Amino acid sequence: MSSPWPPLREELRGLAPYGAPQLDVPVALNVNENPYGPSPRVVADIAAAVAEVAGSLNRYPDREFTELRKGLADYLARETGVVVAPEQVWAANGSNEVMLQLLQAFGGPGRTAVSFAPTYSMYPEYARDSMTGWVAGRRRDDFGFDLEHARELVAEVRPSVVLLPSPNNPTGTALPHDVIGTLCELVPDGVVVIDEAYAEFRRAGTPSALELLASHRNLVVTRTMSKAFALAGARLGYLAAAPEICDAMRVVRLPYHLSAVTQAVASAALRHAEELLGRVDELRHERDRLVGWLRERGFEVADSDANFVLFGRFADRHAVWQGLLDRGVLVRETGPDGWLRVSVGTPAEMAAFTEALVEDTR
Ligand code: PMP
Repeated sequence: MSSPWPPLREELRGLAPYGAPQLDVPVALNVNENPYGPSPRVVADIAAAVAEVAGSLNRYPDREFTELRKGLADYLARETGVVVAPEQVWAANGSNEVMLQLLQAFGGPGRTAVSFAPTYSMYPEYARDSMTGWVAGRRRDDFGFDLEHARELVAEVRPSVVLLPSPNNPTGTALPHDVIGTLCELVPDGVVVIDEAYAEFRRAGTPSALELLASHRNLVVTRTMSKAFALAGARLGYLAAAPEICDAMRVVRLPYHLSAVTQAVASAALRHAEELLGRVDELRHERDRLVGWLRERGFEVADSDANFVLFGRFADRHAVWQGLLDRGVLVRETGPDGWLRVSVGTPAEMAAFTEALVEDTR
């Protein structure tokens, strides 16, 4: 009898690649991008930075991405008021890659990663790809974090890695500090990864997990330039943690994983942080308006600290999703059944979305 072709690992057989549909639609509100591209001035500066490294692309890049690390550390200090040294910063091609590297280093066969659903749908894939066991606990029905349930689950599973988005994707709400601090204490032999992909959008008064770094050596805070920073196409994610954790990342990373082009683009973008992040307040305002509008119309909406909103509930969410798509508006069919997720776009995109939703659910 012949073996299956191609000779895939058994647990990968028949699986479809992960990914939101990349459809050519007038209004794309499905992957939480920042709708505002860079200005001509920033485009010119990024292009000049690439031109500068282009002449030495015959050489491998700086493996330690020294300048970029410093730029990221400076940015974090400005954004949160927390002083972070360059040795506490690590970066890779998107925070997706950062988190895969974390699981390669701290997960692996015989170890388990834990999250609490609804949670970011890529986490089980990082676990699978790094051959780490995967256990998903749950959140409360209102999507709040259930610390008692978490306490019981981690005592039972003894995870090596806990992965938690804050603000949570897909629900949108940030975690309180006491939950993060308690989890770090409950998992002294593992690492607690707080995925702050959307942190810059958090509501006023919501702290960043970075403030807890100094008091918990097993805390890792990941961030990305893909969302608020409006740089999804460049693929740059990073983390802040104890220097020993960054040293562990060095062991598992592929040689020269961050290209000279990526480093140049990200460093140039960091020099224009103020402008690239300049629309964040506007997007938060647009988000709060959207939450208010949806609630006024009788939809259920989770509180959002992010640039997306989870709303429902629909007896047949796929039909609503399809109805919106038929009207040129692409949202995301993700999260608990009955709910849909919409990214916050420009005022014109939001108007197109609300109009389409009214027609679709009439
Ligand atoms: N974490 C969360 C919670 C996300 O929603 C995303 C992107 N959808 C990522 C991480 C990964 O983003 P990137 O790889 O672009 O940094």
